[in-house]
Amino acid sequence: MSVLQTLQNRSNTTCELCAATKDLKQYTIPPSLNESVDNSLLVCSTCLDQIEGNTQMDVNHWRCLNDSMWSEFVAVQIMAWRMLQRLRNEGWPKDLLDMMYLDDEALALARATGEHEDEANKIIHRDVNGVILEAGDSVVLVKDLKVKGSSMVAKQGTAVRNIRLDHENAEYIEGKVDNQQIVIITKYVKKL
Ligand SMILES: [Zn+2]
Repeated sequence: MSVLQTLQNRSNTTCELCAATKDLKQYTIPPSLNESVDNSLLVCSTCLDQIEGNTQMDVNHWRCLNDSMWSEFVAVQIMAWRMLQRLRNEGWPKDLLDMMYLDDEALALARATGEHEDEANKIIHRDVNGVILEAGDSVVLVKDLKVKGSSMVAKQGTAVRNIRLDHENAEYIEGKVDNQQIVIITKYVKKL
């Protein structure tokens, strides 16, 4: 049986990402050189055009990944992972990624095209309401915070001006409270 036939059989001739039944093609996930059942999946033209960047990403279309990310087939898992990475700034894809499990080998292949880098992988800091925080912003604390390594408590309602971002960790920012530079968790602040 050819790779294509095997894919058609296992998917019941549907797009393995969105379950569409028309315009299906075999897609071998880059950078694989040899097409095999293990590194290929059946996708529809709507999915394929967006995967290959020929058309703009339709965010809502990719809600389908909610289901297909649980596929038992690694090639499908990898493509779901890559597309979720591209969309992660939308919020919900990030939540799905957090739930996903890829074994080490699959994860290495998933990362091979750098889908998780650049735009998609930028560390974004968000306040308690999901508003994006940038260096230099002012925030207000939405609860009392104990300051690590001191007896100080930064009170709810305290304004912190000119914050700095922790570029390694989206959950941390830094700012001065009572003239002391402290680390603050982003979910406890609100942008002013
Ligand atoms: Zn599709």
